[in-house]
Amino acid sequence: MWLDLRAHTSLCNAGRDMKAGLLITVLLWLAALSFGNPSPSAGRASDPASKAVAITVDDLPGAVPGTGQAVGDLKDLQRINQRIPEILKAHHAPAIGFVNEWKLQVSGERDARVALLQTWLDAGLTLGNHTYSHASFQTTPLAQYEDEVIRGEVVTRALMKAAGREEMYFRHPFLQTGPTAEAKTAFEQFLKAHGYQVAPVTVDNDDWMFNDVLGTAIETKNKRLAEEAKSAYLDHMNAAFDYYETVSRSLFHRDIPQILLIHDSELNAKCLDTALTNLERRGYRFVLLNEALADPAYATPDLFVGPQGISWLSRWKLAFGQSPWNSDPDPPAWVVKMSNEIRQAKRTN
Ligand SMILES: [Zn+2]
Repeated sequence: MWLDLRAHTSLCNAGRDMKAGLLITVLLWLAALSFGNPSPSAGRASDPASKAVAITVDDLPGAVPGTGQAVGDLKDLQRINQRIPEILKAHHAPAIGFVNEWKLQVSGERDARVALLQTWLDAGLTLGNHTYSHASFQTTPLAQYEDEVIRGEVVTRALMKAAGREEMYFRHPFLQTGPTAEAKTAFEQFLKAHGYQVAPVTVDNDDWMFNDVLGTAIETKNKRLAEEAKSAYLDHMNAAFDYYETVSRSLFHRDIPQILLIHDSELNAKCLDTALTNLERRGYRFVLLNEALADPAYATPDLFVGPQGISWLSRWKLAFGQSPWNSDPDPPAWVVKMSNEIRQAKRTN
C-alpha cells in the first residue's frame, strides 16, 4: 500500500512535470509570436508595412511662410489645424505636434488659438513642448533656455492633463541641442527632472523652404508655381527617405523606425495626404513616438555638439566612429534660392 501510494504520487508528479513542460513550451511560443520571432524575412524593405515611422509636426499652432517671427492669421491657422489632424487621423498616423506657446498670446484670439491645439487632442493626437518662443540654444544662455521650457508648457500641459495624457516630449527648435557638451548634458538633466523625453528627428526634409515658395505662389496667385512647389516637395520627401533608409541600413543593418519632422503649415495641409500615401506605398506604417523610441537604435548615444540641426542618424555616426557630415539631399537649387530671397526680403522690410 505504502509502495503503491509512492508510485501513484510519483506518477502524478511526472504528469505535472509533463503539463508544466507543455505549458512553458506554449508560453514560449506565444511570447515568440507577440514579440516578433526574428525570421529571415523580418524587416525586409519589400515586406508590406515592414517599416515604421513616427510623424512629428513642429511649430504649432502654425508655421508662417518666410519667417519664424509671425503669429499667423487666425483664419488660415484654423483651416490648417483642421486639415492636418484630419489627414493624420484618416491615415491612422498617431502624430505629435510641438507647440510654441507665444503664438497663442494674441490679444482677443487667445481662446481661439488654444482651441487650435485642442483640435489635435480631439483627433487623438499628442502635444509636446517646442519652447515658448522657438528659442535658439546656440544664442540663449542655459538658464534662460530652461525658462523657455517652463514658460512654454503652461497651456500644453493643462490641455494634455485634461485629455488624460501625462507624457511630455521636448523638441529642440532648429534641432540645436546645445552650444557645448556641458550645456547639452545640463539641459538633458533638466528635461529629465521635469518629466520630459527628447524627441529626436531622423528624417528632416526642409519642408519650410517649400512652404516659403508656396506662400509666395498663393500671395501672387501664381498657380503654376504653387503646383511646382508641391510636386518638388513630394519628390524631395521621397529622396530624403531614400537617403535616411540607406544610412539606417548602413549603421544598423535594418530599417529602424524613422522619426519624420514636418511643420504645421499650409504646405502640409495641402500635401500631407499624398505624402502619407507615398510612405504607405514605401511599406511604412505609422507609429507613436514612444514606439519608435523603444527601438534599441535610439539608445545609441548622440555625441554631436554643434550649431547644426542635423538628423540623429547623422549624429549616431559619431558613435560608430564615422563622420557625421554626409550628403543628405538638398531641396532643388531653385527652391533654396527662392526661400533665401523670401526670408531676406521679410528681414529687410
Ligand atoms: Zn520649430
